[in-house]
Amino acid sequence: MFAFLPLSTTDPAYLNQMRMTVLASGSKGNSAVIASNRTRVLVDAGLSCRELLRRLAAVGEDPARLSAILITHEHQDHVAGLAVLARRLRIPVFFTEPTHRAWVRMLTPRTTMTYAQWLDKLAAEREAKAAASADVPTYDAARMEAIASLSAEAAMLDPTLNRSGDPDAELPMEAGEEPCEAEENRPAAKADPTYLPAVEYFHSGTNFTIGDIDVCPFTIPHDAADPCGFVFSSAGIRMAIATDLGYMPPNVKSALRNVDVLLIESNHDLEMLKDGPYPWSVKQRVLSRVGHLSNLAAAEFLERDYDGGAHTIILGHLSESNNAPELARICAEQAIGDRMTLLGNRILLAHQQIPMEAVEL
Ligand SMILES: [Zn+2]
Ligand SMILES: [Zn+2]
Repeated sequence: MFAFLPLSTTDPAYLNQMRMTVLASGSKGNSAVIASNRTRVLVDAGLSCRELLRRLAAVGEDPARLSAILITHEHQDHVAGLAVLARRLRIPVFFTEPTHRAWVRMLTPRTTMTYAQWLDKLAAEREAKAAASADVPTYDAARMEAIASLSAEAAMLDPTLNRSGDPDAELPMEAGEEPCEAEENRPAAKADPTYLPAVEYFHSGTNFTIGDIDVCPFTIPHDAADPCGFVFSSAGIRMAIATDLGYMPPNVKSALRNVDVLLIESNHDLEMLKDGPYPWSVKQRVLSRVGHLSNLAAAEFLERDYDGGAHTIILGHLSESNNAPELARICAEQAIGDRMTLLGNRILLAHQQIPMEAVEL
């Protein structure tokens, strides 16, 4: 369906030291492969399983050689194909515990009931309690409880949000939970949409290792349960992913020191967002401290805080409604200024619709 960028003819089996291949970046889906000499992992799985497999094939990555999937946060554009892909490949998924819980909640169907049904349920519960104890709540107390619960339900069903609650809501999501293969017919998958072959928990700020890749997860400010970015290192090469963050706090700035490849968010142009099609409430959320990084905020980081040592900077999670690739590029190039050389600070753009050429060091 899509045309792919010309790809390196280098056989991925013969690596230098490390490779980052962005399969997709943006509010309709995010995923990237990080590969070292011996280990390959997928960061986020925000396209359908079928599309992820198609893009992996297009960039010459063998899905059978993936060791794990790591998840930054539970927004749909980062997890759309997760369960199906993990079951298909039978590989573990690394989450923080709050992110895993939030993902499970998102996929667990909630029974909806009318206000009258809710009151009936409460009345039945009250009768059951009365049978067990003399301490019976009054009708008013039960009613207040019902109203509070319904308000909470309504807040979760805000029609201006996509299913994930991501503030950069470019609807509709193309990626879905399409059945990818026979794995979906396995009883465990049918009975439980949150079934995964294995789940591993990590904590932001605590490093861990997968094969010969050291993983350093760091907290990012974003409106999800426990969102994080990652620095991956192997054989002295360091590659970082930092998208979906409302601003650049000190812990993120320090995590991004001494990286060789940096995927950083450059989500929106402030003027385009202000004049753009989003409802006011969504604009406020994108702009908030737990929203998304603007071109200007990314440029400010690159100009003031970034140490200038990367080989390649990839601008990612560009909004299709509120940004233009050339605007993002110009902003970053101006911020880097004369630090851009043949060997350093090359600026590339990640795409939504096509995978990028691998960045190898
Ligand atoms: Zn996102
Ligand atoms: Zn997000």
